[in-house]
Amino acid sequence: MDFQPDLGLAAFREEVRAFLRDNLPEDLAGRIRIGTRSPRAELTRWQCILNEKGWGAPYWAKADGGTGWAVLQRLVFDEECTAVGTPSQDTGAQKLLGPVLNAFGTPAQKAEHLPHILSGARQWCQGFSEPGSGSDLASLRTRAVRDGDQYVVNGQKIWTSYAHRADWIFLLVRTDTEVRKQAGISFLLVDMKTPGITVRPIVSIDGCHHLNETFFDNVRVPARNLVGAEGEGWKITKFLLNNEHATAADLPMLRRCLTQIRMLATRRCQGGNVLLERHEFALQLARFEAELAAIATLVQRVAALEQDHSPAAHAMGSILKIRGTELLQKMSGFLADALGDYGAVAYPIPQEGDAAAALPMQEVGRSVANEMFFRRASTIYGGTSEVQRSIIAKSMFQL
Ligand SMILES: Cc1cc2nc3c(=O)[nH]c(=O)nc-3n(C[C@H](O)[C@H](O)[C@H](O)COP(=O)(O)OP(=O)(O)OC[C@H]3O[C@@H](n4cnc5c(N)ncnc54)[C@H](O)[C@@H]3O)c2cc1C
Repeated sequence: MDFQPDLGLAAFREEVRAFLRDNLPEDLAGRIRIGTRSPRAELTRWQCILNEKGWGAPYWAKADGGTGWAVLQRLVFDEECTAVGTPSQDTGAQKLLGPVLNAFGTPAQKAEHLPHILSGARQWCQGFSEPGSGSDLASLRTRAVRDGDQYVVNGQKIWTSYAHRADWIFLLVRTDTEVRKQAGISFLLVDMKTPGITVRPIVSIDGCHHLNETFFDNVRVPARNLVGAEGEGWKITKFLLNNEHATAADLPMLRRCLTQIRMLATRRCQGGNVLLERHEFALQLARFEAELAAIATLVQRVAALEQDHSPAAHAMGSILKIRGTELLQKMSGFLADALGDYGAVAYPIPQEGDAAAALPMQEVGRSVANEMFFRRASTIYGGTSEVQRSIIAKSMFQL
């Protein structure tokens, strides 16, 4: 691969920066939520602005109404948005469901759902995991039984991020119990307003409510909401999970975290000296810089493999996921330590107009503890580190 600076990419970065400078409303800047989705109104407002520009779906092909950007362009876009703290997009709908609908959806399903994803009017959640079926997803038991032109769904999902705010859910269900477990799974789209759905909150260690248990009690779903054929759910899931390996490390967030550490290095004093003058601090900062540079190089490599549709992207993506999430956990812990007293205070939901926000150090500190807690989950969601290691090991045998 070529490590020379890509001049086209530099020009694209300038274009994104200029767009953000001119179009990101002041009251939406710096509104990034650490690892979590922005409030609905902000997300929709920002999505509308992006959509007007033709940037509503950075992960889709041009033919499907997306930007048609190459992997590295998408990374640049994510990085620049993270740097200025734009609201989030509905990543489940953008990165997971959108590509699935574009590849497997009927014309009617595309017409019904894609415009609402682009406009941000309809938000989605992902109903895959169940109690006892997380890593071993194919063992899932939520049942869907065909009854005329409907499916009747019964069962329970867990860890359903943002189910309490979602309009629709994309759901894995068991439609056949007599065949091999993977072959009995189907992929359904369900309106969250359908009678029989109950959402119960799970408050996580960061003190926030973004996770839920979701129960289905005789929920009647039109059969036209089945994506692909009955029993094709596993094939579709493999397609969905095999996307976007280069983003597995969350490089924009790693860069943001490092910027905060660098900022503290020269601004926070302990014992009369700025932190950077402390040998251990400077050494650790240098280690983070080196690790991040290595990950950034690996991201480029995975992006190149992905662009070439190389199967190696899968295992390399797993390496990235492990290295990236472990580094983010280390850096967010280090940041909390470096903040001392300021880092010891958790602010579950940063309050607007908080008097403390006017003080620069509190401004940094108010989200740091939450970030540190939230990132404990990063080696679990999106596939645990142990599962990623199994993927890497299996790929070695295939070489
Ligand atoms: C913050 C967060 C958000 C999430 N959002 C969603 C969501 O929106 N929708 C959704 O469907 N799910 C979501 N999940 C669920 C997530 O996908 C699962 O937590 C994950 O797949 C692990 O499954 P599990 O929790 O059942 O753990 P288990 O699979 O029970 O694993 C428990 C432990 O055993 C290890 N283990 C399991 N199998 C193996 C194996 N074969 N070899 C070695 N070790 C193994 C695991 O690594 C782990 O350490 C979310 C999870 C978190 C933490």
